[in-house]
Amino acid sequence: MALIVQKYGGSSVGSVERIQAVAARIVKTVQAGNEVVVVVSAMGKTTDGLVSLANQIARQPNRREMDMLLSTGEQVSIALLSMALLEIGQPAISLTGTQVGIVTEAAHTRARILEIQTERIERHLEAGKVVVVAGFQGISSFEDLEITTLGRGGSDTSAVAIAVALKASCCQIYTDVPGILTADPRLVPEAQLMSEITCDEMLELASLGAKVLHPRAVEIAKNYGMPLVVLSSWTDDPGTRVISPTPQPRPLTGLEITHPVDAVEFDTDQAKIALLRVPDRPGVAAQLFTEVGREKLDVDLIIQSIHEGNTNDIAFTVSQQASRQAEAVANAIAPVLRGNNSNLDAAEVNVQQQIAKVSIAGAGMIGRPGVAAQMFNSLAQAGINIQMISTSEVKVSCAIAAEECDRAIQALCETFEIATSPVQLRTAALDTTKIDNRQSPVRGVALDLNQAQLAVLQIPDRPGMAAKIFSLLAKQNISVDMIIQSQRCRFIDGLPTRDIACTVAQGDAEDARQVLTAAAAEFGWGEVVVEKAIAKVSIVGSEMVGAPGVAARMFAALAQQQINIQMIATSEIKISCVVPQEQGVIALQTIHAAFNPHSADV
Ligand code: ADP
Ligand code: ASP
Ligand code: MG
Repeated sequence: MALIVQKYGGSSVGSVERIQAVAARIVKTVQAGNEVVVVVSAMGKTTDGLVSLANQIARQPNRREMDMLLSTGEQVSIALLSMALLEIGQPAISLTGTQVGIVTEAAHTRARILEIQTERIERHLEAGKVVVVAGFQGISSFEDLEITTLGRGGSDTSAVAIAVALKASCCQIYTDVPGILTADPRLVPEAQLMSEITCDEMLELASLGAKVLHPRAVEIAKNYGMPLVVLSSWTDDPGTRVISPTPQPRPLTGLEITHPVDAVEFDTDQAKIALLRVPDRPGVAAQLFTEVGREKLDVDLIIQSIHEGNTNDIAFTVSQQASRQAEAVANAIAPVLRGNNSNLDAAEVNVQQQIAKVSIAGAGMIGRPGVAAQMFNSLAQAGINIQMISTSEVKVSCAIAAEECDRAIQALCETFEIATSPVQLRTAALDTTKIDNRQSPVRGVALDLNQAQLAVLQIPDRPGMAAKIFSLLAKQNISVDMIIQSQRCRFIDGLPTRDIACTVAQGDAEDARQVLTAAAAEFGWGEVVVEKAIAKVSIVGSEMVGAPGVAARMFAALAQQQINIQMIATSEIKISCVVPQEQGVIALQTIHAAFNPHSADV
């Protein structure tokens, strides 16, 4: 007899009829010989309605009271679903998070799960009941019994965590789409269903805006190797399997806060090419990377920083062997990028031959802002200057001087208590077949309209400044992505300064600005600027490594629509661009069409 955890989302239990249909589906699973634990969300848009009520009373509602309010939505749906099950003769019982014993951190509205008691659920299962558990909620401790919630969309996380705690054979997430598609079908009607996706790819997509799964649910599935499937509440189709590698053994206590970093990785064979003062207009990144791709050069990281005046800086890394050729391409294209504007100087090309990339790898890096900050701190304490940063949900990488690589590895292994040997990576060679044949290396595309750009200007150029900034943000629990330092120095009172920009959730932008502004005098940086009217569009695929043609194709697609790219940041398996907010949806559609990602799946 298998134990299956099923989770039904808001729209799946959005009406009495739908609750009855869900009950019938559950009974089918029981009749097939399974024990079933069900996790449900609040009905339909109930949670949105509750948030709106709170916002009518307070501009920033008290977080504890918010949890008290929001947790009521799920209490309604568990009771109704249990009644529906009982009504058709299926023994069932509903339990709140408190009754189960889902213990979380005390952080109201964004609590992480620490531990799940299993006795009460197991007792009811043994008595032949279906157990219906309220998703999205927990308690801070058995003494305080303070109700907490996990963050919007958190029922997915409850379901996977309960599956792990009960050692279930799988966790099924039932929702209003047939599974995980190559893009949000509401925005891209041509989006195609994938039969499977790796958990790293799904972690990236989820943290870049694909809200079909809560990123933390994927993180738990990856960490504990829990089989996870996303499928439709309305059909019997098989949906999408999220594939996890075999995990290292982990304790079930501190469930969502265990060891976020699995490995330290490095690549000592990198060189950095920077183009300073390229014009800020659509098509420039496309032109540059089309040329780079034509020379079949293996590009690893790419960043484009915020612009000062009407020019940008673009930097990328290649293998050292390729650096001369990359430099030649950059020198040849620099004057061309001016276009017809003879008032502009040609971009200045700057090459640094001996660069190393050190990375920490795991799951949930962006979701746990403290981890990146810890990495920057560890490097700063070793006196190592960070030249480029690449963030992603599964990895944070820093480009540093090659001669400092050994010290960096040692510092990072100590900081993150990594006992295994560091993994040496190679900048992958360009495999042109990946680009030229119909197989798309891009698995999915995502759009996030809820991000803001945060820029800290005129930061003194010395080791430790990124660590200061991101530690301050991490202390406020503010997650950041797309961290970009400007390539050129501006001299203020004779001292070199750089700007650092990143993206944060819009809801965090004002807090972030205040925290960093308050620290400006102490650390010597200048103004902190927030820009909210941005969209972040991203492509994700684990086969993108070593395929520079992919970046060029993404940038060219945006250029064709005359969409100006404000920021670029990459990791090994994703490329993200910040574009004007009003062009976000068209950017997503254009990129999806350019890659036709489904061809990877056939
Ligand atoms: P639930 O209430 O079941 O948790 P959500 O609304 O949280 O449902 O998530 C399902 C929605 O996610 C879909 O209706 C779809 O619009 C959206 N979505 C975004 N990106 C994707 C994607 N790549 N694949 C499938 N759905 C997606
Ligand atoms: N009801 C909660 C929300 O709307 C949790 C969830 O649906 O996953 O965010
Ligand atoms: Mg959801």
